[in-house]
Amino acid sequence: TLMLGLAACSSEREETPASTGTGGAAAASDAMIGIAMPTRSLERWNNDGTHLEKLLKDAGYQTSLQYADNKVEEQIKQIENMVNQGAKILVVAAIDGEALAPALDAAAAAGIDVIAYDRLINGTDAIDYYATFDNEKVGNLQGEFIVEQLGLEGTDETFNLEPFAGSPDDNNARFFFKGAWDVLTPYVEDGTLVVPSGKAPASLDEWTTIGIQGWESAKAQAEMDNRLNSFYTGDEKVDVVLSPNDSLALGIESSLEAAGYEPGNDWPLVTGQDADQANVQNMLADKQAMTVWKDTRTLGDQVAKMVDQMLKGEEVEVNDTETYDNGKKVVPSYLLPPQVVTKDTVESALVESGFYEASDLGL
Ligand code: BGC
Repeated sequence: TLMLGLAACSSEREETPASTGTGGAAAASDAMIGIAMPTRSLERWNNDGTHLEKLLKDAGYQTSLQYADNKVEEQIKQIENMVNQGAKILVVAAIDGEALAPALDAAAAAGIDVIAYDRLINGTDAIDYYATFDNEKVGNLQGEFIVEQLGLEGTDETFNLEPFAGSPDDNNARFFFKGAWDVLTPYVEDGTLVVPSGKAPASLDEWTTIGIQGWESAKAQAEMDNRLNSFYTGDEKVDVVLSPNDSLALGIESSLEAAGYEPGNDWPLVTGQDADQANVQNMLADKQAMTVWKDTRTLGDQVAKMVDQMLKGEEVEVNDTETYDNGKKVVPSYLLPPQVVTKDTVESALVESGFYEASDLGL
């Protein structure tokens, strides 16, 4: 029957890429899949939503794709609507990892399965699966890049570091920070890395004290302005900024620019994540040293595959069953590998893979 299903599918839906693993018998189903995304204001979520919607439609499912403008109440309403519309599966990238539990408990009571997309949702056992990139690894890569580029191992020099963390309500932000901080802490403790602003959390649990609410560029910019104006009044210069993602890096880079830092001269090493277009352009202009690229197309592919496996009652593919404890259960997860991209690998990683057109980047 699988073969028959596939045959029927491919004759009706020629665009379905065989590699997605979707399609097949389920193509005959018109099950509705709700996709709840956080915001259109960040490039990645637009790509995430469009890609996943297309995969699921090509596989014969109906979809309801909603963006909630980073407003928790709106996301809850959207999820409630999807439940009322008879969704079979919800794919949810949460704005706030704590606030969705009641809405998802109601979904589970209505027999709906839930996949947490990119961000874990806490405090409910209504989550069936979690698909994401290895979030702690993202932070490790940022930390290791700093160690290597500045040559911290065994050096007598000291470097001024300004660390930032992501949105306190996003479960990923803690993992990003932990991943980086685990790598950097020995150098902070032995004085190789100095934090002139004092904005280094005393312990990992206090990471939220340097978190930027809503991952907003403007807030990161204001925070960086503050630190520069208050703690870098003499000859002191920032050498390195740990930025967890590109939206924060963008604000930080604007702040550095306004303060007179010059690319190729005294511009600090700035990290990032997502390979957003503006940040890739900043990498090419020597304003950002690296980004951790998460090929969101592969996350969509994986989730579309999981949806299909769930609806067909097949075994669902996961590769991590111990990391993501949401307070109610350890959620079976599929973790994808993130990868470092620098100015030198923009072309080979981002353009050759088709993530960007050369012309998108002014190449
Ligand atoms: C995602 C990042 C993104 C951030 C801000 C995180 O949960 O994993 O890729 O930069 O949210 O939207």
